[in-house]
Amino acid sequence: MSANRLDRNVVVLGGMGVGKSTAIQRFLNNEFNESHYPTVSNTYNKRITLNDREYNLTITDTAGQDETSILDPNYAGATDVYVIAFSVAYRKSFDIAKVVRDKILDISGVESVAMVLVGNKSDLKADRQVSRAEAEELARAFNCPYVETSAKENQNIEELFVKSVKIANKARGDD
Ligand code: GDP
Ligand code: MG
Repeated sequence: MSANRLDRNVVVLGGMGVGKSTAIQRFLNNEFNESHYPTVSNTYNKRITLNDREYNLTITDTAGQDETSILDPNYAGATDVYVIAFSVAYRKSFDIAKVVRDKILDISGVESVAMVLVGNKSDLKADRQVSRAEAEELARAFNCPYVETSAKENQNIEELFVKSVKIANKARGDD
């Protein structure tokens, strides 16, 4: 097995303001930042160990000028797993997640791709607009896992990226 088989490219997509950048920063640096940088797109690297294997994750944070982050068709070929994020406190971002998935399938030209659906901001309990059951139902329709996170309270962020690697491995027949 060659070493570069352990590179995994993760692309994080979803509506604006759902917490994509915050979740990534939380994972990389264990930081929470209140600020919002809507137009910044960036790529990061992090090594993680999973089941005694070392992975080099390349995480692409996406951003757009309008409500949806932009999926650069150039990502498509190199992407191992898509993380589609919405905010459980913002119904519209849940609808946007469906649009984002359709776009991914369009651009990839395949019927299914490795993805993980993420409901972020689970700490905003009083403001919840999307139930866990509803999100799980959508994930079933997408044939992908659902992870509920809070980047603010550092809930399930590590689990989200670990799950992403597992799904990427499964798609490669490499689990
Ligand atoms: P992006 O556009 O998806 O990258 O969203 P950002 O990461 O810029 O986050 C948008 C806003 O939501 C910022 O003010 C963050 O501090 C806030 N935010 C991100 N994650 C959470 C979370 O889990 N809970 C709460 N309450 N706020 C969050
Ligand atoms: Mg962002």
